[in-house]
Amino acid sequence: MQLSSRITGLLGGGSDGWGVFLRARQMISDGTPVTELTIGEHDIRTAAPILQEMHRAALAGHTGYASVPGTTALRDTVARRVQDRTGVPTTRDNVVITPGGQAALFAAHAAATNPGDTALFIDPYYATYPGTIRGVSAVPKAVPAHADDAFQPRADVIAAAAPGAKSLLVNSPNNPTGVVYSRSTLDGIARACMDHDLWLISDEVYDTQVWKGTHLSPRALPDMADRTLVVGSMSKSHAMTGSRCGWIVGPADAIEHLTNLATHTTYGVPGFIQDAAQFALNQGPAFETEIAAPFQRRRLLAQDIIARQNAVSLVPADGAMYLMLDIRSTGMSGEDFAYALLEAHYIAVMPGESFGQAAAGHIRVAMTIEDTAFAQALKTLCDFADSRIK
Ligand code: PLP
Repeated sequence: MQLSSRITGLLGGGSDGWGVFLRARQMISDGTPVTELTIGEHDIRTAAPILQEMHRAALAGHTGYASVPGTTALRDTVARRVQDRTGVPTTRDNVVITPGGQAALFAAHAAATNPGDTALFIDPYYATYPGTIRGVSAVPKAVPAHADDAFQPRADVIAAAAPGAKSLLVNSPNNPTGVVYSRSTLDGIARACMDHDLWLISDEVYDTQVWKGTHLSPRALPDMADRTLVVGSMSKSHAMTGSRCGWIVGPADAIEHLTNLATHTTYGVPGFIQDAAQFALNQGPAFETEIAAPFQRRRLLAQDIIARQNAVSLVPADGAMYLMLDIRSTGMSGEDFAYALLEAHYIAVMPGESFGQAAAGHIRVAMTIEDTAFAQALKTLCDFADSRIK
């Protein structure tokens, strides 16, 4: 039987960028001790008190169908958090709870685009973006952010790509680069959205991982709240990746339609997960800082190690759980470098090319292992790059 081109064409025919990761996993299952600096997941697990609340809620009977847009209590908690952090008036009518940020990205694109519409996204990008856009039968179009601009997307480049497009997806703090978009970058993004009547889909799942200043949401910029859908998640901020709990914040009419979409797709998020998420959010900013602290600490460690050598340079960045390293001095592609490093030293990193053409000649290092092992792996990586300098 024939499957739909929406499903069979989801990956766009190209490589899905996971080759090095899969090779590393294969080596591990064959007994090789690989140091994995690949995926964006904490080296801690969800904190015990959050799990206890999940358990309590489940035993209290919150195991039936939960209200589809989310429990009133969680929507209120998310709305209050967003309002406190951004200053934008936000109520539960602006919030729909989703099974993680990924489902929110899909739903946001379903809301913003019709089949065949062009949906813009910034390259380098989180690996699922083009497939998510294809999944709603829209057409993904990459807008490059250049290494020479420290991967801050430029308004003129967005404007040149915008005619005929319906939406623009941005992500700050950014995966894979760690870059936090500056106020002037965000102003440029907002201007392009207004000039070209684009929906802005703002993926803010790393909003608690900002090392300088505070997180700035483009929804808070003048006249942007009516055209912005913010994607949020408990995954990164509270080490709750497996719980699958996120949200979209946007205009109330969009949220009403997104609730209809949820009714016909996911049918919401389990009540005991939502109760645990609400409990976690009520732990306040100090808890979120504690979850983010290892990545800030490891970035400082990395800056120190990288300052002592010349083979590798670090893309300047102030957020998220990743380092983007420029390895062009070796003359190798990111992919060749990553495979060679894996074979020589059993260290797995992601090739920049897995995240788009703009990150070619780079590698992404996830700062997701314990500090001493992380520092050792990074030193080995730098020495390896040095041995390969052209
Ligand atoms: N957006 C970005 C930029 C990510 O890096 C991730 C996960 O790594 C997600 C969204 C999806 O996160 P989740 O579905 O776990 O909330």
